[in-house]
Amino acid sequence: MVRLGEWTKQEMSYFSERVYYWQEKFGLLDWQVETRYTYDDKDDWGAKCSRDPENRCAVITFNSSCAKHSKTIGKKYLNTCALHEVLHLLLADLAHLSPATSSNDKYEHQIVRRLEAYILGLVR
Ligand SMILES: [Zn+2]
Repeated sequence: MVRLGEWTKQEMSYFSERVYYWQEKFGLLDWQVETRYTYDDKDDWGAKCSRDPENRCAVITFNSSCAKHSKTIGKKYLNTCALHEVLHLLLADLAHLSPATSSNDKYEHQIVRRLEAYILGLVR
């Protein structure tokens, strides 16, 4: 369990492990992926994936302030966040073809949520 702003090595390595697990499952091994951790309570976000398709590199950042309402972060949540951000990486080439607008981001996020639900067995 992770408490507010208190990342243990174990939780950090679990999140990274899940990111690299999903990266391999989707065959995204041509990408150089770095994981980072932060505590940012200024904005409401759980994790994000910054992608550079032309250079095949990405940074996936987890924000532990997302637990401010629940006070804890479990492995299930960390895995879901890792999968979610890797799905954004999966769509990076496609997203790169269209202009970066809030509307396109919204549609991409909808696809990611549907894939995430299917993969986690929430939809059959
Ligand atoms: Zn998303």
